[in-house]
Amino acid sequence: MRRLWPRHVRSRMTLWYVLVLGVLLLAYAGGASLYLFYSLREQLDHNLLEDVERVEGLLENTPDGMVALGSVHHEEDEPNMQRFVEVWSPNGILLYRSPILQGRTLGGPPRPGAEGTTQRSPITVRLADGTRARMATSIYTVESRRVFLRVAHSEEGLWQEIEEFVSVLLPALPLALVLAGFSGFALARKALAPIDAMAHKAERISAERLNERLPIENPEDELGHLARAFNATLARLEAAFDQLRRFTADASHELRTPLTAIRSVGEVALQAPKSMTEYRDVIGSMLEETDRLTRLVDSLLTLSRADAGHIHLQRTDISLLGLVQEATSLVEVLAEEKRQRISVEGAPTLIVSVDRLILRQALVNLIDNAIKYSPAGAEILVRVTAGKHSQLIVEVVDQGPGVPQEHQSRIFDRFYRVDSARSREWGGAGLGLAIARWAVEVHGGQISLESVEGQGSTFRVALPSTITTEKRRA
Ligand code: ADP
Repeated sequence: MRRLWPRHVRSRMTLWYVLVLGVLLLAYAGGASLYLFYSLREQLDHNLLEDVERVEGLLENTPDGMVALGSVHHEEDEPNMQRFVEVWSPNGILLYRSPILQGRTLGGPPRPGAEGTTQRSPITVRLADGTRARMATSIYTVESRRVFLRVAHSEEGLWQEIEEFVSVLLPALPLALVLAGFSGFALARKALAPIDAMAHKAERISAERLNERLPIENPEDELGHLARAFNATLARLEAAFDQLRRFTADASHELRTPLTAIRSVGEVALQAPKSMTEYRDVIGSMLEETDRLTRLVDSLLTLSRADAGHIHLQRTDISLLGLVQEATSLVEVLAEEKRQRISVEGAPTLIVSVDRLILRQALVNLIDNAIKYSPAGAEILVRVTAGKHSQLIVEVVDQGPGVPQEHQSRIFDRFYRVDSARSREWGGAGLGLAIARWAVEVHGGQISLESVEGQGSTFRVALPSTITTEKRRA
């Protein structure tokens, strides 16, 4: 069955169209024939009832006790009409039968009470040879003698007309279907041609040619809508591919820098024999570069896992201040090296439901940046407060160089650095803030920066508070 079913939409559409049209035409032909049948029969009944009265007037008694039918002009008026007449006496003696009946009966002796009384509506009878006829009955008095009268008109003429009607209609049906099939197929092909064109065009669009778009002939119609949707998908794909390409290029570049450093330090060291202390220095700087590499690879892994959506948050209710203190303690030693002071402020009662390690990473990155970019001896403040709309806020305020206005919108982008040379000097690849943004947003929060160049920066993390009032009170 499946194999018989057409493969192409246009063929399927045509087939459906022809099937539905066929059913409709058949129903129409059936309805029209029925209508014709009933209206012809109504006409036949009308004539029959008129004829009953005419026949009644023509009845006369004959000397032999029978009944005869006076001169009949009716047959001459309507030569095609076959009229059958039977006259019975109430006690079941046949008084007259039309010769044309040739011995066939219209129903045998009358059944008093059942026929011929007041009800004159005609019925269909079948004669012995199968001829169908419409018959009406009446009880009539011929010169003070009650007789039972049956008059019938043959239905053959009616059936002939129906047959003629159907024989004209039926052959036209397949013809109409064939014509409809051809025109339907042509229409479907024309209507679907743009889809074919789109498919061919789409086949030619590859990863390298994602900037190509499908032509939109009429943006208002369904095909225009399809093309627009397809183009929008292409645009998203193109953006995603671009981002991926940029990310790969940047990542390779960042990975190459420490690798080159390790290699050149090694090569220089091998050029001439060195003292033990010099070798230690070389190995030390190689390890430093390896550390940088490890950090970079870790960051890349975090981001690619984040992109793939593989990270499932393991939320626990913790004190936000406690988490800030934990993050601070991890980078405190760096601040001490630069004689900087980190103060942490806030109420320990503010509870958040977060993935501790992920959010801590965001805070570490922000505090680490504040340490890296602030001058020696500077003050760094980390403040935890309850903000508007039941948000909890962490602010990392530093006295560093600030971020120029023109860089602020892009500072959270991957690999983005305000001053690459200086930033790399401190070990940054421009991924710290990207990771911080992801970590905050994955918790449903927002991260923002307020900074005036030369006057320090404030990085603000706003987290939705998920604690209940009871917990708040507690
Ligand atoms: P990096 O690893 O280079 O620090 P980040 O993503 O953490 O990367 O930061 C991106 C850039 O934003 C940095 O290169 C730096 O120029 C700027 N930046 C980040 N934090 C601060 C800050 N507290 N003060 C001034 N500039 C900052």
